Amino acid sequence: MHCFNHPDNVAVGLCKCCSRGLCADCAADLGHGLACRDRHEQQVEAMNMIIEQSARIYSSAPKNILIGPIFFLFMGLLFAGFGLFSPNGISAFPLLLGVGFILFAVVAFVRSRALFRGQP
Ligand SMILES: [Zn+2]
Ligand SMILES: [Zn+2]
Repeated sequence: MHCFNHPDNVAVGLCKCCSRGLCADCAADLGHGLACRDRHEQQVEAMNMIIEQSARIYSSAPKNILIGPIFFLFMGLLFAGFGLFSPNGISAFPLLLGVGFILFAVVAFVRSRALFRGQP
């Protein structure tokens, strides 16, 4: 592969923005990628920033997805406890409601885990 601007020079890499071959004279090394010097440096810099930000959001997501299941689990225990220890003996409705909430919490947890499987 040869440089897009200098057909005689061997390319050292590709611009992350336009994917053209760049020789050592044309390439600007931005740390995590090459860019056409003085042409696509800013675009590639912005692209890297967006990728970094979304990677950060994505990696913090597995912690956030626990909030829903924990809330339902708490509600489930509350209702189930109310059903089991109500003053008139065991009352079925809150107990069933509580079990339903707990089941929903488990399903929500398993589903969100499956969504993020393979993530570190
Ligand atoms: Zn470029
Ligand atoms: Zn060149």
